[in-house]
Amino acid sequence: GSIKLEGKVAIVTGAGSGIGRSSSIKLAKAGYKVSVVDFNSVTGEETLSLIKEEGGEGIFIQADVSRNEHVLNYVQTTMEQYGRIDAFVNNAGILQKFSLLENIEESEYERIINVNVRGVFLGLKHVLKIMAEQGFGSVINTASTAGLRAEHSMSVYTASKHAVIGLTKAAALEYVRKGVRVNAICPGGVDTTLTQAVPTMMQNNGYTPEEFPNMRMGRFADPAEIAEIVLMLASGQSSYMTGSIIAVDGGLTL
Ligand code: NAD
Repeated sequence: GSIKLEGKVAIVTGAGSGIGRSSSIKLAKAGYKVSVVDFNSVTGEETLSLIKEEGGEGIFIQADVSRNEHVLNYVQTTMEQYGRIDAFVNNAGILQKFSLLENIEESEYERIINVNVRGVFLGLKHVLKIMAEQGFGSVINTASTAGLRAEHSMSVYTASKHAVIGLTKAAALEYVRKGVRVNAICPGGVDTTLTQAVPTMMQNNGYTPEEFPNMRMGRFADPAEIAEIVLMLASGQSSYMTGSIIAVDGGLTL
């Protein structure tokens, strides 16, 4: 059986679906009490039920990660409920509508940057303060292979994920002597609701398959294959890792 981490606490954003849901369940099974954070209260509550079905413990907190007062609320609620934050999975993110850069509306730019950059920044801002006071903590930011190189017709998403990597490195540098580690994962294609729209968006935009990343393994990742690495980065197994940008992409960026 797995080692139980009595008393440990994790916050997972975007926990109602995909990578966030899978990470929440895996952390709960490993003994973390989990604050399940999502904009969508239906899917968020579902994740909490799945945690409880596995004998785990947690709470659901509804939040839009792009709004400062919502972020403060999920952090404060977690502290009131559990008194500490061991792991923070700063994961909520959205995919842009595929389009050449010249055709992207400013409103689409704002939509993506608000969630993928502002949301990650605000989470870091409020959680790092607490982790520094505690003298411990591990942050896992969900970037993307689009944080490592450009993805065709996804310029704003690409920029947002490069920003997540920048924030990861900067935070890792500033908090390295405070007992806090900050790392990022870069998934390639993962089988989630986020990628379900991709084939249709490709067809609608008339792009050829060569313009899009291959699945070198011939399949998307299962969210659990990403969650496994999230758990490793949350735990002491990765005690000498900070500022690391980890591709979990089935060889996509080779
Ligand atoms: P998903 O759509 O299955 O899950 C994302 C969750 O985030 C949803 O439950 C959604 O309600 C929530 N969310 C969206 N905006 C929010 C907001 N403003 N506030 C709070 N919650 C919000 O997607 P996923 O594939 O699990 O994506 C998770 C992360 O992984 C994202 O940051 C995404 O960019 C990244 N990622 C995904 C892939 C992939 O192929 N699926 C690849 C690389 C990176």
